[in-house]
Amino acid sequence: VTGAQASGIIEPAGQAYLDARAPVDRRVDDLLRRMTLEEKVGQMTQIRLGKLRGNCEWNPGPLREDCMKAVLEDAKVGSILSGGGDAPNPNTPRAWAEMTNAIQKYAMDHSRLPIPLIYGADGVHGHSNVLSATMFPHQIGLGATWNPELQQRLGESTGRAMRATGVFWNFAPVSDIARDTRWGRYYETYSEDPVLAGALAAANVRGQQSDPTDGTAKLTATAKHFAGYSEPFNGHDRAPAQLPIRYLQDTVLPAFQPQFDAGVGTVMINSGAVNGVPAHASKYLLTTQLRERMGFRGVAITDWEDIRFLVDRYHVAADYQEAIAMAVNAGVDMAMEPSNAAEFTSGLLASVRSGAVSGKRIDQAVRRILKLKFELGLFEKPYVDPEKADAIVNGADRALARQAAAESAVLLRNEGGVLPLSSSVGKLVVTGDTADSAARQLGGWTVGWQGVPEWSPMPPTVTVLQGIKAAAPSANVVSAPTQAEAVAQAGDADAVVVVLGEDPGAEGEADTEEPALTAAQQGLVDAVRATGKPVVVVLLTGRPQVLGTVADAPALVAGWLPGTEGGAAIADVLFGAVNPSGKLPVSWPKSVGDQPFSYDQVRGANAAPGSGYDPAFAFGHGLSYTTFTTSTPTLKSAEVGRDDKVKVSVKVANTGSRDGTLVVPVYVHQPVSKVLTPQQRLVAFTRVELKAGEERTVDVTFDVKRLAVTAGDMDGGGKPEVAKGAYEVVVGDGKARFTVR
Ligand code: BGC
Repeated sequence: VTGAQASGIIEPAGQAYLDARAPVDRRVDDLLRRMTLEEKVGQMTQIRLGKLRGNCEWNPGPLREDCMKAVLEDAKVGSILSGGGDAPNPNTPRAWAEMTNAIQKYAMDHSRLPIPLIYGADGVHGHSNVLSATMFPHQIGLGATWNPELQQRLGESTGRAMRATGVFWNFAPVSDIARDTRWGRYYETYSEDPVLAGALAAANVRGQQSDPTDGTAKLTATAKHFAGYSEPFNGHDRAPAQLPIRYLQDTVLPAFQPQFDAGVGTVMINSGAVNGVPAHASKYLLTTQLRERMGFRGVAITDWEDIRFLVDRYHVAADYQEAIAMAVNAGVDMAMEPSNAAEFTSGLLASVRSGAVSGKRIDQAVRRILKLKFELGLFEKPYVDPEKADAIVNGADRALARQAAAESAVLLRNEGGVLPLSSSVGKLVVTGDTADSAARQLGGWTVGWQGVPEWSPMPPTVTVLQGIKAAAPSANVVSAPTQAEAVAQAGDADAVVVVLGEDPGAEGEADTEEPALTAAQQGLVDAVRATGKPVVVVLLTGRPQVLGTVADAPALVAGWLPGTEGGAAIADVLFGAVNPSGKLPVSWPKSVGDQPFSYDQVRGANAAPGSGYDPAFAFGHGLSYTTFTTSTPTLKSAEVGRDDKVKVSVKVANTGSRDGTLVVPVYVHQPVSKVLTPQQRLVAFTRVELKAGEERTVDVTFDVKRLAVTAGDMDGGGKPEVAKGAYEVVVGDGKARFTVR
């Protein structure tokens, strides 16, 4: 007696759930009815690749039958993941496809009911675990593009690459907002602003989840890390956050909403604690907010080992068993790498048997997981074609990567028109710690978790030095690795380009107490500036480093962590092949004490006269090689209801002699408000390409709902509401008033 008979299940005739033409809900109902409790809790478990190979723990090596048996057959696990760096050997697309196929086949062959696995990985800037994949800029750079349409194309590209290797679950994009430059994951976010971050993330999700044209199943993206992860009180990754409810509701959560509206399939939960409650144990976050208020309908997965941390780190549960019940009851549907598959599944089973977790709650979670697998098409297409993988992934979309990196470059300063450089320049000195460093320009989450590991070959990359050489083939481009060489070479040079960056890293390892350029970096710039030659400083950093003496360098370009084509893209901007259009998605702090930092500070934030917002470069700042004008905005109607939209029109013109792209941000504020509100709040934006001399009227529309504010903690933990009364729309230097009735 085995399987179904052992658990008392009688197989109904005909397996409706295998019928691809049946409606998904019917398939889910049918399958759920056939499943044992053991099979259900197995579906709620995701285990890392390392557990299937090597020593059934961490060590890499080929897949091992006995390891796979423990995880896939005995514990009946429903999902496998590659954490950052967990790759097959060799780390080729084909080897990935063969590996995911082999795991899938083992699972299908060794389960009573063939339920396909779903394989997950972090494709956070392209399919970034794969050596030969094209690495796009990290999110912070993409934030500077203010270009949702581009995000969508990047999402499509990433999705295509991942699917080709049998990875149908991408743990990206990050929807956390950037507020503290000490935090090691700052570069993984799009922006400090929820409207910008939300729009870009949603576009990326639409791209990733778009219908495949290459015959594979679909892929699901992830909105992470829900919610309040990016503001650890002391800047250290995963330290607790204290977030007033009005801040949570008006600023943190809105960055996620557009992704829910776009139908993102999964949510990953914040590893930290918010207001004293670990997010993984927070029914308020995972059920009240996520499901009831924000309408998310997909699968909520924990972050890495986070159920265990309810015991070991947070001490809110006395033991693992209690932690499991706490998390699942709060709203966790699937546990990522709960250390040990059998321990988790048996713990969850015991919780159900003791009544600590209801069978209904299990069914709800499993229903969501099965629904996702059906909707993606995994039951019909569980495998991929390894023959195709290399051709799809290797070197794909390099032009797109170059465009993304170029659009993400922000021209911060350009005194006296140092830039663009002439491609017929005679001698150019290129110096700085990141001028020729592929590893630094690729950043963390590239091949390995902390960036390209020492043991790995370097992914194909164009460094800035290489990019400059290619862009100015007739110039004498001299690489000067040291300060002394740079100064000596500057003597007869036409200009000096200094490229500064930071070591790659991820998570807590990338936290810093000094989010600033080092003394050595500032010293190098000071020394080459003292030669009197034109100096261009390029910053390839994942955060806006406090600049010190570099703040007034004549030409300053923020290139962020631009990825594979970063050097080519930076050269495009330096030589003017691309007219820079990037705008800061974050505020550039003047001092390391400016934490947390953002433009949307409430009035009264500083007792001293002035606004209290005093950045080195403001949110939205970014220069161009041409000049633009923006007219005073006009509104379609001066009075609107709470459910209406506001249509703003402005006339924009390119008044210079080069074609260029203008980002038009629309801000709103209340001249008088009963509770403190931001002095400026981004409500919408658009991007306009304008030929030299071209003039155009553009319309930007936003929902009045976007103006909602939560009154405050003391007012009954209220919900966001749009106050009636006067508002002001601000575009450039122009303003227009309207009233909400
Ligand atoms: C990170 C997640 C990531 C997961 C899997 C965790 O450490 O916080 O963002 O998706 O690892 O690699």
